[in-house]
Amino acid sequence: MKPHLLLIGGGHAHMITLKKLDTFIAKGFQVTVIQPSQYHYYSGMGPGMLGGTYQPDDIRFATKKLVESKGGVFVQAEAYRIDPKQQFVYLKDVEEPLHYDVLSCNAGSYVPKNIVKDSGGCIFTSKPIEELEKAKEQILEKGKKGGVTIAVLGSGPAAIEIAGNIHQLCKEHGLSQPRIQLFGGRSFMSGRPEKVQKLARRILEKKGIEIIEDGYVTSVADQEITLENEAHYKADIIFPALGVRPSKIFSRSGLDVGPDGGLKVNEYLQSTSHANIFGGGDCIYYAKQPLDKVGVYAVRQNETLYNNLMASLEKKPLEKFSPGGDYLLIYNLGDKQGVLSKWSFTFSGKLAFVIKDYIDRKFIQTFKEF
Ligand SMILES: Cc1cc2nc3c(=O)[nH]c(=O)nc-3n(C[C@H](O)[C@H](O)[C@H](O)COP(=O)(O)OP(=O)(O)OC[C@H]3O[C@@H](n4cnc5c(N)ncnc54)[C@H](O)[C@@H]3O)c2cc1C
Repeated sequence: MKPHLLLIGGGHAHMITLKKLDTFIAKGFQVTVIQPSQYHYYSGMGPGMLGGTYQPDDIRFATKKLVESKGGVFVQAEAYRIDPKQQFVYLKDVEEPLHYDVLSCNAGSYVPKNIVKDSGGCIFTSKPIEELEKAKEQILEKGKKGGVTIAVLGSGPAAIEIAGNIHQLCKEHGLSQPRIQLFGGRSFMSGRPEKVQKLARRILEKKGIEIIEDGYVTSVADQEITLENEAHYKADIIFPALGVRPSKIFSRSGLDVGPDGGLKVNEYLQSTSHANIFGGGDCIYYAKQPLDKVGVYAVRQNETLYNNLMASLEKKPLEKFSPGGDYLLIYNLGDKQGVLSKWSFTFSGKLAFVIKDYIDRKFIQTFKEF
């Protein structure tokens, strides 16, 4: 039997591994990729898809097609649990587990919904990105009737981008603007640089988006949002965007995990408990220095992950990952406006959007071309 490399998720940290999948095949290894969808969506462009700047095809990679064209096997399923002793991955609703010699995990993160009591059709999380496509249809359908209230829970990057792009969507479809309320906890964009907060607030408020900072949301039930001060708000469409947590696979699997439940990895992006398991992106807990859940780190991990998967299969020495320094963040706030920030350099306006649009389109093109 040929040694088997198994990949859970074809996310941002597996891009180079997927691009060079044929190099594993050429060396006599088998490669299988498990993913719930045939496509992987580039989240940085997700809110832009909601706003109508991009179509789904502009922001997604055809993972299945790529894997098969490179000689690998694509399994459309959800990895549920890993048995690290027997070296099996169990799939949801599939009886037969998959055996591996080397495993790499890039299963991303999810938006916790523990405060959401009902799962009505009008609640959309910011992840998986496919949800934003469904949300767009709902907004357009309800928006035609007018008088719609939309609540966005949270005031992190995903929340502010979603709010701003709902405004763009309605404007471009000639709909009367919905009432958009952004629930920012006790303070809008807390933890972000002051200038970023100020510029983002100004752009959103100019669009008529209400920023509510009276306290954290404690529950959502029957399309009603309750805050910690017992204030209640009704909404027709609700977007919980209250941060993300690593995939639950690892806490079910008896592997070392970090405090957030992410796969605990060392400097080689290798599980601290099992030497033949690796990982990257939002689903890992990088033990040396916990990393922000941003795509930038997943992208930076690509080269090391590819090299170490090959080295592990060939029983060669591993290389260390270096997270690098500060990173550029640009928020797309809809209507071709953005806020750009790196180090202490911050500005807002059309140029910020144009830079983000250029970088994002270039990134996706690089990986679509292989
Ligand atoms: C709306 C929004 C906008 C964002 N904008 C930016 C931005 O502009 N810049 C930035 O740096 N970061 C941004 N982020 C953060 C960024 O999305 C994440 O850090 C990034 O997606 C992490 O990449 P990943 O590959 O680890 O996870 P993901 O992108 O979530 O990819 C994980 C992949 O694994 C698959 N998968 C999931 N579960 C399983 C399973 N059980 N079995 C098998 N496969 C599975 C998924 O289908 C997916 O293809 C944004 C996030 C959101 C929500």
